[in-house]
Amino acid sequence: MTEQRKVILSGNRPTGRLHIGHLFGVLENWAKLQSEYETYFEVADWHALTTKYRDTETMKQDIEDMVIDWLVSGISPEKSVIFVQSHIKQHAELHILFSMLVSLSRLLRNPTLKEYIAEKETLKLKTEKKTLNKIAANITHKIINENEERRGVLEGKIKEFVLSELSENLFSEDTEVPYGDIVNYGFLGYPVLQAADILIYRAHVVPIGKDQLPHLELTREIARRFNSLYGQVFPIPEPLLNEFAKVPGTDGRKMSKSYGNTILIGEDTQSLKKKIMSSYTDPQKIRKNDPGHPDTCPIFQYHLIFNRENTDIIKNECIKGIRGCVQCKKEIFSKMDEFMEPYREKRATFEKKRDLVWDIIKEGDKKARVKAEETMEIVREKMRINY
Ligand code: SF4
Repeated sequence: MTEQRKVILSGNRPTGRLHIGHLFGVLENWAKLQSEYETYFEVADWHALTTKYRDTETMKQDIEDMVIDWLVSGISPEKSVIFVQSHIKQHAELHILFSMLVSLSRLLRNPTLKEYIAEKETLKLKTEKKTLNKIAANITHKIINENEERRGVLEGKIKEFVLSELSENLFSEDTEVPYGDIVNYGFLGYPVLQAADILIYRAHVVPIGKDQLPHLELTREIARRFNSLYGQVFPIPEPLLNEFAKVPGTDGRKMSKSYGNTILIGEDTQSLKKKIMSSYTDPQKIRKNDPGHPDTCPIFQYHLIFNRENTDIIKNECIKGIRGCVQCKKEIFSKMDEFMEPYREKRATFEKKRDLVWDIIKEGDKKARVKAEETMEIVREKMRINY
């Protein structure tokens, strides 16, 4: 009798093409896990909608581009179930049922929600500052242009004016800062949807980074609550912590699309060269013979990943000032260019046959739907709502 493999669920919001930070941070790990576990990889398009609900026109292409990067990075449709969240409607059903088991105050304690609100609040304050500057300029203009007798009347009107300017600027339909409406219902409830995503496949393990532990905790709480109310259905999923080398962006910050500092998986030669040659290095090393600080230089971090065998020499030469940054960049470009070649080739094949990506997704959807419906039948029965 063959031992049943444990189930893993992981996924990503569709953000288009992925970068080497994703490759070394997530995808290499997924590729390894496929042979050990029953793996489900979700394209989390509903999650993307919580913040991208206004601009959905690129969603389809973003899904294709992301799944192509999964495939070229070794995620195999033979070994794993690759599916699109919104194609499996059972996720929505379980989400609704789970939403009855979570209190509002628990959701308001979600750290991601707090970060999101803080970000929006900062934006709002900036907008308010701009508004107040505009109002001040208008008031000054009016007072200067009025004669002495009319200033008293004007003072009363100023109050009215300030209020109308504030409401126009802060409550307008066009503004991206919805005052008093910072978070939509979908965003508030996304950890509940995430719990449904994980538990609908009765996943035992979820590969995550340390910073995501609080999110998994809510899933575990929901699973426990459901099991205690209706009987044992869900395993309590365990985190599988990702320990991976962090890849810095070309400006030395965290590699992220929003910073515009990424190197894509299979980046083409021309743009790779441009990105590497214009990359940030140690600002204290202006001339070749200036002593450098490789530990703070992203180019050195790339050497550590793509040119491992020569890093001792490079470090030594950089510190002693016998290595120039241009030479250092040329060397790493050549290594990275070579590394990218198989990814480019595989990507080119899928680029020519984008329908193939959807065929793979359709197959994955079918398998995911079977498992999800199997869980929902148990859930409905346990909750006595299978009438
Ligand atoms: S020599 Fe290389 S490692 Fe040193 S600062 Fe320049 S690019 Fe960075």
